[in-house]
Amino acid sequence: ILRVEGLHKSFGEREVLRGIDLEVAAGEVVVVIGPSGCGKSTLLRCLNHLETPTRGRIWLRGALLETREPEVDRQRAHIGMVFQRFNLFPHMTALGNVIEAPMRVKGLSRTQAEERGLRLLERVGLLDRKDEYPARLSGGQQQRVAIARALAMEPEVMLFDEPTSALDPELADEVLQVMQDLAREGMTMVVVTHEMEFARAVAHRVLVLEAGVILEQGPPSVIFTRPTQPRTREFLRKVL
Ligand code: ATP
Ligand code: MG
Repeated sequence: ILRVEGLHKSFGEREVLRGIDLEVAAGEVVVVIGPSGCGKSTLLRCLNHLETPTRGRIWLRGALLETREPEVDRQRAHIGMVFQRFNLFPHMTALGNVIEAPMRVKGLSRTQAEERGLRLLERVGLLDRKDEYPARLSGGQQQRVAIARALAMEPEVMLFDEPTSALDPELADEVLQVMQDLAREGMTMVVVTHEMEFARAVAHRVLVLEAGVILEQGPPSVIFTRPTQPRTREFLRKVL
């Protein structure tokens, strides 16, 4: 469903992604791991057009991602993203956050958007918090609203960039549970995370990124127990 070919990204002189080739099948869950600064966030941001690749091409469902503005907006709507920092609109309630984009971008009526929004808030276990403002929600709750908000656009792929790393373990678990449910329902997901338990349980494939290239990849059972690259072993020793 997603294909990346020869992706390079530089910031000035600094080459952060140095040739990434990647295919993600529909329904596949890919977990991306690697040391700080290796380019994980940059990779996700390129997939979602938040950064323009210096070189290389990205296809979503067979369609080449364009860099012209009207196309970018249309295609970005197919990809949901959840960030490390909760980035809800502070002046909108939980439900308000979830219905905003479907109304503005997809042209849904308020009634339609609310119907969908309530269903999604229920799915992430927050129906009873629908009228709260973000400031009155816990970090885990905010992050679950952020997931509901991304899902409201009916994306074909969901990108997660360390969605739980700013959360206490207990709150992180709530969020990971929602993500695991999503994966079970067949959502295509690319997840940057340090939650190795989650990777082990949910990922179909683990991709080890280092210095802007894919060091190795494979099923979690292989990557976590017998990685072929010494650098992977070294990295795993630190995080496991
Ligand atoms: P972390 O695990 O710390 O989140 P990461 O793997 O996500 O790291 P990136 O955020 O992709 O790493 O950053 C990779 C490199 O690119 C870093 O050296 C960073 O300083 C640099 N970088 C990222 N964004 C920009 C930018 N907008 N301008 C300049 N340099 C950037
Ligand atoms: Mg990052």
